[in-house]
Amino acid sequence: MQTMAPEDTASSPAARRELLKELLVQARGCVRCPELAATRKTVVFGAGNADAELMFVGEAPGASEDEQGVPFVGRAGKLLDGLLEGIGLARSDVFVANVLKCRPPGNRDPLPIEIANCQDYLLRQVELIEPAVICTLGNFSTKLLRGDPTGISRLHGQPEVIQLGARAVRLYPIYHPAAALYTPRMLETLQEDFARLPQLLALGPPEQPQREPAPAAVSVAPEPDADEPEPSGAADAAEADQLGLF
Ligand code: URA
Repeated sequence: MQTMAPEDTASSPAARRELLKELLVQARGCVRCPELAATRKTVVFGAGNADAELMFVGEAPGASEDEQGVPFVGRAGKLLDGLLEGIGLARSDVFVANVLKCRPPGNRDPLPIEIANCQDYLLRQVELIEPAVICTLGNFSTKLLRGDPTGISRLHGQPEVIQLGARAVRLYPIYHPAAALYTPRMLETLQEDFARLPQLLALGPPEQPQREPAPAAVSVAPEPDADEPEPSGAADAAEADQLGLF
């Protein structure tokens, strides 16, 4: 008989990474938002280190991201790369995702229903990556993860510990790089806020809430025969691995 850990307690980084790849496969087939599913070229799931201490959450893919399937590859992405370099980090050290995994047509703002439809993917990403710090970029991700309408201009640069699912995380809201591209004062503030990230990372993960004792192991179906064909989800996950997204 085979036993399996409950879904939300995937233990090792390798096990969590496998579950993240399964989530990617699921997101790629998502049709929860009919307009976005019909107009997107790719699903921009997120990319980077699947075991990152630091995660960034932007708003939604733009045209370049939709073309390439990778978040923050346009001008805002170049600014993010430069800011990361300034604190000695590369994209491969962090994980970058968005509130929406699909591009809103014409880069319009995400609709509340789209944010609601997509939020399970983001929350599951956070659960599987287990970052110590989540840096929200701009209003949409800040409001969603704080569950509060307070805007970024009041909150930027002020870290706080919040509870997301079963985990506590250090949330650090900062201005969205795309907004800073056009407003020199905002860029300055973004650079100042960004420069304080290493201090925050040095604190490590916040104290975690007490876990309930693990339930008894659940028995699942017997192991498939060795010569049985691989389930298609596993084949898709293997493809995701080859993409080198994380
Ligand atoms: N802006 C975002 O919020 N996300 C991207 O991926 C690109 C630009």
